[in-house]
Amino acid sequence: MEIKKGIAVSPGIAIAKSLIIDSEDYRIPRRSIKPGQRMVEIQRIRNAFKAAVDELSQLKAGQEAIEQRKIRDIFAVHLRLLHDRSLRKRITDLVHSESVTAEYAVSATLREIASHFTKVKDAYISERAADIYDIERRLLRQLLGRKREDVEHLTEEVAIVARELSPTQTAGFDKTFVKGIASDAGGRTSHAAIVARSLGIPAVVALEDLTESVRGGDTVIIDGNRGIVVVNPDSETVRQYEEYSLEFAELGHRLDAIREKPAVTRDGTRITLLGNIEFPDEAESVLEKGGEGIGLYRTEFLYLNRASEPTEQEHYEAYAETISVFKHRGVIIRTVDLGADKYTQSKRFAPEPNPFLGLRSIRFCLQNLTMFKTQLRAILRASVLGEVKIMFPLITNLQELMQAKMIFRDVMEDLDEESVKHNRDIKIGIMIETPSAALTASTLARDADFFSIGTNDLTQYTLAVDRGNELVSTIYSSSDPAVLRLIRTVIQDAHKAQIDLHVCGEMASEPEHIMLLLGMGVRTISLTPPMIPEIKQIIRSVTLEDCNNLARKILGMNSERQISNYLRDATRRILPEAF
Ligand code: PEP
Ligand code: MG
Repeated sequence: MEIKKGIAVSPGIAIAKSLIIDSEDYRIPRRSIKPGQRMVEIQRIRNAFKAAVDELSQLKAGQEAIEQRKIRDIFAVHLRLLHDRSLRKRITDLVHSESVTAEYAVSATLREIASHFTKVKDAYISERAADIYDIERRLLRQLLGRKREDVEHLTEEVAIVARELSPTQTAGFDKTFVKGIASDAGGRTSHAAIVARSLGIPAVVALEDLTESVRGGDTVIIDGNRGIVVVNPDSETVRQYEEYSLEFAELGHRLDAIREKPAVTRDGTRITLLGNIEFPDEAESVLEKGGEGIGLYRTEFLYLNRASEPTEQEHYEAYAETISVFKHRGVIIRTVDLGADKYTQSKRFAPEPNPFLGLRSIRFCLQNLTMFKTQLRAILRASVLGEVKIMFPLITNLQELMQAKMIFRDVMEDLDEESVKHNRDIKIGIMIETPSAALTASTLARDADFFSIGTNDLTQYTLAVDRGNELVSTIYSSSDPAVLRLIRTVIQDAHKAQIDLHVCGEMASEPEHIMLLLGMGVRTISLTPPMIPEIKQIIRSVTLEDCNNLARKILGMNSERQISNYLRDATRRILPEAF
């Protein structure tokens, strides 16, 4: 038996025989051809592109039937790449100039493009390389005559084990048979992880060398709640996991039953639970899980699956779709948070040396005004469709906020001149996710209608620890006394200024932090939709008095470990199934 730890990206437990899908890792040797054969190879490339486009179009049409919008978007990106004439030209030019086979030209060209992505030492960008490898595999399958033999004709339940999964591979999985997914590579925000979540298949990624420890047919347990994979478990471990799996399913049913009930503490304090989303169609799942609105719409995902920028109309349609689900409740649209680990690095000729400290988020928007204004116009146009608020990410000083608001007013004036309807009283909030913003919260509060604490980045910047780097992941903790003190300052300053205060970082999705947040004065949290019922159950099981006492104790502690242990013990007593 071997236990591997990775990152949990899709909740649930799977126990099944492994199916390793690494077989498509083609190795294409460099083979020369006679000059007279070049046209034959070029024709083969054309045929392969055409067949790949047909295959993808069919897959995309299949997904349309089940309305998997995210998956469709990914297929659309791949189709756009396959239609890209310059890409095809680059490949055929290689055949002409170096007299190589079609397979070699395809592989060499796409791998060169992918390697530019992976060289960026940055989780998100290297994950984009997976899309390029996916297209390479699809073309090579056509050229080598190997059709999709992998997981399409399953007749028994399996746990997929792979070095890295492409989004299209994941999207092709049949949920009836694919019970779990585990991969060496990947991150929380990789496309494959997004698709696994949307299909509801338990998944763990970033397991580093799992594929070296598993052979096809080995039994594996995939624990998508705790990010653990057990290879060849002994019978006692299987028994324990079967029990845990039943408990987890029962907990799910039990929690679904409180969907309509309010998130209120035993002594009557009402807490508002909102959902974090990346795509408009997730709004439905927030509603299903009992969320009362959208507290964080990460709009940069509109940019991540495509080569060109979304138009104003595309922005508008995405917002309108989201708002239609929560018409009379709030939808907080965060302006794009690109840069650092998202997208813009891949477009750079010379990537920034410290992208997380570089041109990201609101800074990027303030230097790319055309793009920024396009989004602001779309948000304002959508603001008449429901209860819309706008939120600026990564504000580090007052000047940035004033600049962003000035541009916002300019856009309003443009719309006024064009007689385009919009809500002139739209609320403008900011994310507090840098220590500088936390420390100047009392000043920023004068110019913001609300704060939303982004604990993911606040933890990263306070502790000087990259949130995506597994080498320093033990230092990364929102329970660190330094982080907690900053959070307390922000809450106090928001209360003094009488503005709304939300928490939307992952901390709000973590059961062990809920009592603490309530005790520190938080009354609105925004979290990942699948966690809403569990968090609501905790809220309904505690009194505010207990929370206040716990917070007082915690804020007097000086060690992260002591705090974490205390919080876990306290939460375990309330909801043992959460751990
Ligand atoms: C955060 O930083 O806590 C946050 C919610 O924003 P993101 O995770 O999108 O950076
Ligand atoms: Mg952030």
